[in-house]
Amino acid sequence: MSSYQFSPIGYVHSPYKEKFAIPRQPGLVSAAQGTIELINDFNQQELTRGLADFSHIWVLFVFHQTAEQGWKPLIRPPRLGGNKKIGVLASRSTFRPNPIGMSVLSLDDIRVTNKQCLLHVSGLDLLEGTPVLDIKPYVPYSDSVPQANASYATHAPNETISVSISESVNEFLLNVNSRYPKLSSLIIQVLEQDPRPAYKQQQVDDKIYGIRLYEFNIKWRLISARKIQVFDITYHDNATR
Ligand code: SAM
Repeated sequence: MSSYQFSPIGYVHSPYKEKFAIPRQPGLVSAAQGTIELINDFNQQELTRGLADFSHIWVLFVFHQTAEQGWKPLIRPPRLGGNKKIGVLASRSTFRPNPIGMSVLSLDDIRVTNKQCLLHVSGLDLLEGTPVLDIKPYVPYSDSVPQANASYATHAPNETISVSISESVNEFLLNVNSRYPKLSSLIIQVLEQDPRPAYKQQQVDDKIYGIRLYEFNIKWRLISARKIQVFDITYHDNATR
């Protein structure tokens, strides 16, 4: 049996610093902006010549944070409520025979600063530090199949949960607005996806949840079955600024 070894051509820099609350597919959270940093021999502007004329790219990457946990033949997709099993190959699970993921991202810009080539992307569903194996232009005439049957994932998940932000958090967001102009939209769009495990969705629970976005720890809770309140935000390292 042949085996193949691949090395990353770059790494993702993402507002998502931990797995919890990352959207389950790309494009669901348009305010999730990040960059792909090309490295070593791949950090040459030449490699991206012509790419900026495409609005979207395919990013092939390694599910590096879960890769060591191996794979399972059957998994429970959150879209099926987390209680029905299907084959791994019928899923977008991270626990795959080869831990390779693929995401279509919006390509917003390509910039070279101090000889570092950065691809600016949005709609990310990727963790900070995700190793990138390849990048290809997204070609709608072939990659998009509007009449395709997508079984249990025909539509994007419904956003049936609303999100409110407390006054004190809004004040904090205003203070950091010049550095993070999309942070407020990011928090709302991420939480509208209801990041709780599938078995908890549709339920009220009195747990206090935390998510980490950029350098911030954000706390939120359910205030009714379909309403989330964001009530606290602090710098992750607690440093005074
Ligand atoms: N669009 C990709 C695909 O279909 O191959 C990813 C789908 S997968 C269901 C998306 C989830 O992967 C995210 O919600 C996040 O929890 C997880 N994830 C993102 N980056 C990861 C990484 N580097 N290592 C492990 N898990 C990651």
